[in-house]
Formats: sequence, structure tokens, C-alpha cells
Amino acid sequence: MTTNTEFQAWRVEEKDGEYVGQEQTLKVSDLPEGEVLIRVHHSSLNYKDALSASGNKGVTRSYPHTPGIDAAGEVVESATGEPAVGSQVIVTGYDLGMNTDGGFGEYIRVPASWCVPMPDGWNTRTAMIYGTAGLTAGLCVQKLLQMGARPEQGQVAVSGASGAVGSVAVELLSSLGFEVVAISGKADHAAALKDLGAKDVQGREILEEQKKPLLKPVFANAVDTVGGAPLAELLKQIQPGGSVSICGLVAGPQLPTTVLPFILRGVNLLGVDSVEIPLSEKQSVWKKFSGEWACPKAEASARDIGRAELDDALKAFLKGASAGKIVLDHA
Ligand code: NDP
Repeated sequence: MTTNTEFQAWRVEEKDGEYVGQEQTLKVSDLPEGEVLIRVHHSSLNYKDALSASGNKGVTRSYPHTPGIDAAGEVVESATGEPAVGSQVIVTGYDLGMNTDGGFGEYIRVPASWCVPMPDGWNTRTAMIYGTAGLTAGLCVQKLLQMGARPEQGQVAVSGASGAVGSVAVELLSSLGFEVVAISGKADHAAALKDLGAKDVQGREILEEQKKPLLKPVFANAVDTVGGAPLAELLKQIQPGGSVSICGLVAGPQLPTTVLPFILRGVNLLGVDSVEIPLSEKQSVWKKFSGEWACPKAEASARDIGRAELDDALKAFLKGASAGKIVLDHA
């Protein structure tokens, strides 16, 4: 391995105000400074990658840029010795794929403190089936459990259920014994959601704006991946003392709610960040997914694509048309 070693990356450039992604040849010396050089075998697709690829300056400040907030691969150089050369690691979040070249390239260079050792029994593809989306679903469920959520309390809603975060949340909650109501805008995806373990599938209309500040409290707890006005409606339908883990903003960053669900029903709003949390917290969730939290259906239904298919797949995210987990295979 020399600094002149060439590799392929799916790189986004600004051309006349448009953001265009295409395969390019880079050199290892083009990568940012860092302690660990990793040969990326697999990455996975996330909504944030679609934002980065479309020129969203809140995610990526300057271009040309290689997106990919997730990467799993083999360590080829390690200035700190830990992780060791030859070992497999998972890197998700922190600045990867935002302003640090990410997993849509065959190599990344990152701080050692971003690298989680591959859990026993996993390989780079399995890790990337979960990726940031799976990690986030796990963190959302973990927060509900920490608040005392139990199956006997009643139904748990998952919004954006067909999405990357939502689909893992549906399978995980159902495997933990919860009665899951999947809320999805994709009627043709109902059977797939039931296959993941949802007891019931409801359309997005159950979260359409209503004038009343509180509605019939049908859900004991919820995982919300969409944010915006639908989240405000979901909060009106949570039982007293229930909790809602929130992680996303596909329906908008504003939360047009009143305080009433919180002060009259004691509803808990639990924020979830999967990006900047300590490495040990990420490691603990990865370990659970490689063991008692395994989601075999999500694993079996993941779709593999190559770099040539990235453009179309990322555009589908921005249209809300993406479903399930998509793994980028650099082979
Ligand atoms: P996906 O695009 O895979 O899924 C989002 C789902 O939300 C869609 O599949 C769709 O599901 C639903 N949806 C899309 N647009 C709308 C809309 N306008 N109104 C209501 N529902 C909509 O994204 P991810 O699952 O990867 O991510 C979900 C959110 O979580 C994103 O905002 C992402 O940025 C965020 N996120 C946050 C993280 C964190 O650390 N906090 C980490 C990872 C993701 P359906 O058709 O079934 O309704």
C-alpha cells in the first residue's frame, strides 16, 4: 500500500449549481489525515447520504465529496495499533460521509476512536445491513425499554415503518414480544411489514392533522422516524405515562405540538442520536444485534447494489420511496 495506490469512489461534485455523483479514481493520498486506513468492503444507504449527495449544506459543507456515513471493512494501516491491521471494523456516524470522505469509496481514513471491532460471528455485509439505520432503531428501542416499556402495556406504533430505521424497529420490537402497529404510506408494503412482525398496518392518514389537542390514547409507546406534523399527531394518541423515541425528520424538523400530551398524560419524548454518542454505546448495540436482538428477516430482505446504482437509490430516499435496507457492495 502506497500513497499512490488508486481506488474507486462515488464522488459528488457541484456543476452549475447541480450536484452530480459519479465514479472517480482517487489516490489514497487524497484521503484526509487519520490514524486508521480501512479497505471498505460494504457500506449502506441512509437518508443522510441522499441529503449529502444532493448538496445539502447542513450535512456536507464543501464538494467534491464522497458520501457514505457507514462503512465496514478491513484495517490496512493503523498508526495506533488498535484496531489492529487485518482486523475488521465498523465505522458509523461521527463525521464520516459528512465532511470526511465516507463509505461510498473503497478506502476511508478515520480516527481510531471511530472504529468498532466487528462483533463475533458477523461480517462486513451483515454489519452494513443494520448500519446507522439499524443502530438507530436499536437505540430507539433501548430508550423505550429504559423508560420501562413492556409488551403488556399495549400496542407500540412505528412510523415510517417501511423505511430503513422503521423496518428494523418493527422486527426488533415484535421479536421482543411487543404488539407492533406499523404506520406506513406504502399500502403495497403491508404484507412485508406483517412479515417483519407487525400485528397491524395503518396508513399515514392516522397521523393527519386534527384540530383537537388530544386524541384517543391508542398506543402505549412509539418509535417515530418521521418527525414534523405526524409526530405531533402521534403524541396526541399516546397513553398516559407512555414514551415516544424520536430520531428523524423526513416529514419536517418542526414539531407543531402543544404541551398537553406531556402535562396531562405524562408522555415522554425521548431523543435519539446515533452519530455522536460514545463508541462504547454503539458497540453495546452492535453486540446485541449480533446476538439476542438479531433481525433475521431484515437480514434476509436486504438488497445489494453496486456503485453504478447509487444515484437512483439515493434519489428514491428523497422521494420517500425507499424501502428496507440497501447495502453497497464494493466488490
Ligand atoms: P428512509 O427514507 O429509509 O425511511 C423513512 C420513511 O419515512 C419512508 O420510507 C416512509 O415510510 C416515511 N416517510 C417518508 N417521507 C415521509 C413524509 N413526508 N411524511 C411521513 N412519512 C414519510 O429513512 P431512514 O429510515 O434511514 O431514516 C429515517 C429518519 O431518521 C431520517 O430523517 C433520518 O435522517 C433519521 N435518522 C436519524 C438518525 C439519528 O441518529 N438521529 C440516524 C439515522 C436516521 P412509509 O412509506 O412506510 O411511511
